[in-house]
Amino acid sequence: MNRTSEIEQFFRPEIREMAAYVPGEQPKGGKVIKMNTNENPYPPSPKVVQAIQEAASQRLERYPDALGTGFRIRAAEVLGVEPDWILCGNGSDDILTILTRAFVGQGEKLRLPYPSYILYRTLSELQGAQFEEVPFCRDFSLDQRFTAADEKLRFAFLPNPNSPSGTVLTPKQVAELADQLPCPLLVDEAYADFADSNCINLVRKNPRVMVSRTLSKSYGLAGLRFGFLVAQPPVIEMLRKVKDSYNCDALSLAGATAAIDDQTWLLDNRRKVVATRDRLTSKLRDLGFESLDSQANFVWCKHPEKSSRELYEQLKADGILIRYMNYADWGDGLRISVGTDAQVDACLAYLAGYLA
Ligand SMILES: *Cc1c(COP(=O)(O)O)cnc(C)c1O
Repeated sequence: MNRTSEIEQFFRPEIREMAAYVPGEQPKGGKVIKMNTNENPYPPSPKVVQAIQEAASQRLERYPDALGTGFRIRAAEVLGVEPDWILCGNGSDDILTILTRAFVGQGEKLRLPYPSYILYRTLSELQGAQFEEVPFCRDFSLDQRFTAADEKLRFAFLPNPNSPSGTVLTPKQVAELADQLPCPLLVDEAYADFADSNCINLVRKNPRVMVSRTLSKSYGLAGLRFGFLVAQPPVIEMLRKVKDSYNCDALSLAGATAAIDDQTWLLDNRRKVVATRDRLTSKLRDLGFESLDSQANFVWCKHPEKSSRELYEQLKADGILIRYMNYADWGDGLRISVGTDAQVDACLAYLAGYLA
C-alpha cells in the first residue's frame, strides 16, 4: 500500500483539497535584481540592528513578553491611540490568520475585493469557510455588492492601498463601506505608509473597523516578521484568546520597537521610495505602458501590444525579477516593486530594449 496516500486520509478534507499559497520567488544568491515581492530596497534603520543585537545578549532562555507591551507603548504614541488598542503579530499575515480564526467558522463566509491579496483565500479555505470575491469597479472603488447583506457573511478584508493595483479608497469611502457592511471590516494597510491617507481614525469611530499594519514593507523588515492590529480594546481582548501565547519573539519585539521609534528613518525612506515610484510610473507611461497611479511601493502596468508574460520572462532571463500576475475574468499584467533608482533604471532600460 502506498504509505503517502494512507496518511493523506487523516488530513481534514479542507486541507487535502486546497491549493498551497505560493509566495513570490526568493532566489538564492546570484546577482538578481529583486523587484517581485514589494520588499523595501533599502536596509532598515541601524537602530533596529543594534536593538536586536542587544536583545540577543539578554535572557534568551526566558519567554518573551506575551503582549509585546514595550512595542505597544511606543506604537500607541506614534499612532495616537492607547496601548490596549494594539495587538502584535508575527508578521501581519499572523494578524490576518488570527482574525480569520476568530470571526469565520466552517461554512461561514468571508468577503474580499477582486483582484486583491491571494492569501485571504487560503486563510478562508483553512477554516473550511467560503470566500466571496467582489470585483472592483472600473475606477477601483467598490459598490453595494461589497456591502450587500448575506446571512452567512462574518467578516470582510479590504487591502488599502490594494495589491496588485496600488489604488486606494479614501477614508470617507472606507467609512461608508464600513457603515453599510453587515459585519466587521479589516482594512489591511500593509502599504499605508506610502499612501496619502490611512484609516486609523475610523477605528476610533467604529468598533467594527480594524486596521492592520506590517513592518515588512515600509520599515524594510520583511525578514524580521512583525505586524500589528489596531482595534478597539474589547476586540483586542477577544483576539488575545485566539493568538499563540508567544506569537512574537524577543528579537523581533526588540527590533520592531526600535523601528517604530525611528520615525525619522521612516519618513526619509518613504520620501525616497515615493519619488522613485512616481518616476517609475511616468517612465513606464513614456514607454507606452498603461499603468495605474500607485499609492504603494509597487506599480501595476500592462503594455497594450506586448505580452506581459513575455516581458516578465525576458526580464527574468536578464536577471531582473518582477511579478507576472494573471487574474481570471480580470486580466493579466506586471507588478513591479519599487527598487533603488539604479535598479529601476536597469529595469526600464531592458524594457525599452525589448520594445524597440
Ligand atoms: C505583504 C502583505 C502582507 C503581509 O505582510 P507580512 O507582515 O510580511 O506578513 C499583508 N497584506 C498585504 C496586502 C501585503 O501585501
